[in-house]
Amino acid sequence: MDKELVERLLPGLKHDVNYYENLYSKRTLDENAIVTRYAPSPTGFVHLGNLFQLYIARKMALQTKGILYLRIEDTDQERLVENGIVKIIEAVKQFGFTFDEGPINEKEEVGKYGPYIQSKRKEIYQTYAKDLLLKGLAYPDFTTKEEVDAIRKEQELSKRRIGYYGKWARSRFLSEEQIKANLDAKKPFIIRLKNQGDFNRKITVVDAIKGKLTFPEDDIDQVLIKNDGLPTYHFAHVIDDHLMHTTHVIRGDEWLSSLPIHLNLFKTLNFEPPIYAHISPLSKKEGNSIRKLSKRKDPELAVSYYHEMGIPNQTVMLYLATIANSNFEEWYLAHENENIDNFILSFNKVGTTPALFDMEKLLNLSKNILSNITALELYEQTLTWAKKYDAANALILEKNKDIAIKTLDIERNTPKKRKDFAMYSEVMPNIYYMFDELFIPQNYEWQKITSLKEIKNILDTYITKYYNENDNEEEWFNKIKNMTEALGYASNMKEYKNNPLKYKGNVADVSTVIRVALTTKSKTPNLYDIMQILGKEKIEKRFKSVK
Ligand code: GLU
Repeated sequence: MDKELVERLLPGLKHDVNYYENLYSKRTLDENAIVTRYAPSPTGFVHLGNLFQLYIARKMALQTKGILYLRIEDTDQERLVENGIVKIIEAVKQFGFTFDEGPINEKEEVGKYGPYIQSKRKEIYQTYAKDLLLKGLAYPDFTTKEEVDAIRKEQELSKRRIGYYGKWARSRFLSEEQIKANLDAKKPFIIRLKNQGDFNRKITVVDAIKGKLTFPEDDIDQVLIKNDGLPTYHFAHVIDDHLMHTTHVIRGDEWLSSLPIHLNLFKTLNFEPPIYAHISPLSKKEGNSIRKLSKRKDPELAVSYYHEMGIPNQTVMLYLATIANSNFEEWYLAHENENIDNFILSFNKVGTTPALFDMEKLLNLSKNILSNITALELYEQTLTWAKKYDAANALILEKNKDIAIKTLDIERNTPKKRKDFAMYSEVMPNIYYMFDELFIPQNYEWQKITSLKEIKNILDTYITKYYNENDNEEEWFNKIKNMTEALGYASNMKEYKNNPLKYKGNVADVSTVIRVALTTKSKTPNLYDIMQILGKEKIEKRFKSVK
């Protein structure tokens, strides 16, 4: 197309494509280094699927001494959210994800391949579109929406493939005179690719995850530059991944159907395409069918859900690692005390079918993680969480630090550790009775022994004749057994089973009375430890409260 006419279509561009090719010179990295990116729209929303993708991308970059950069894809101006960029950066940072290059807030960025926000790259895209116009590989399209609708109707009626291609792409055939006339008439236009592809030809591509794929070649005259001067996602993707020297595009497989478009654009622009790695979506089993996790139906898709529930970030990361590679679990069992970053991830072990999301499994991993940290760590993490999501309990935890830590330490350093908590929000509902502020002497969960008179009798006898604060666990238990016998209960379970009628009950029934009187609960961690933490004064007080 005539240079002057191209100038009229895309005026005021300061540089040509060579300028940008030289500006963004090749990266100096190891030969196998993976350069990849996380390329969200700035909606501020990050979901588990995004984290999954990010986990794979970061790992691949780290493993190969490559680069992971953040690119904000905001060419669809309708999807902008205030502070969307910062929200995304903050959300992923909580899971330990940082970027080597890219925006660090709405205004600043780091890296030599920027701008990393697409709306700031308008000139670059237009320069490449201009180059295609000059080469006769693109053209302005003045077709109105009504005309496009009419073309579609005609295609439907004549049972043709739908789309703006070949002879249907009318603006392809406009003469320069007609273009000039349209411009004089100030008709709005977009810029389209003059596609050289042939739908009857097949292209084959090897996806790093999905393997060999075959598609018909794209022949649609794709929109390159929209009426607002911004590029379409397709065009921006190809220009950016070329200029930023992306070696691997790791993205959700909802983009698979766009792959022929992208490959065709790379070819037309004479760019070497990156390697694509398409990830299957996180899915859920529902009855007999499998469906993609959905924002609307599955609250656990939002990463904010994990923060609100107090599920540690470490759990989420471990879970993502588990579903990312089929051989991870085996590795983890053998390297439980190692940093999971030491695991070597491979594309060919990423599932090609949707990864099934299993909340129960995730919570079990969490229980494991929380049982392996110290009581002090658990206390601190729970307090940090509570300060944000449960202010009333945060105050109690702060005021009763010693009791809280001791309680969380019960049966923690034993071979068979307790695994009570999968999330910080479960801590207080499980131990609240240890704090006087929250202990309410009602709704006692009495079991076998329910007569108040007998209960009082057991408690009185115990505190006056058998309880000694300084006893060790063995002495303490022997005394309970002694009292059990004295009150007509069996202290030996075997003996009790053989002659149940000889006794009023057994030692377990008696100690349950003490347990319930002190906590209102019939199931608690080790009673001896609970009593050591409460101390004599509180024990007496709680016994007296039983009515
Ligand atoms: N902006 C696209 C998205 O929101 C990125 C797709 C890609 O990674 O190429 O998912």
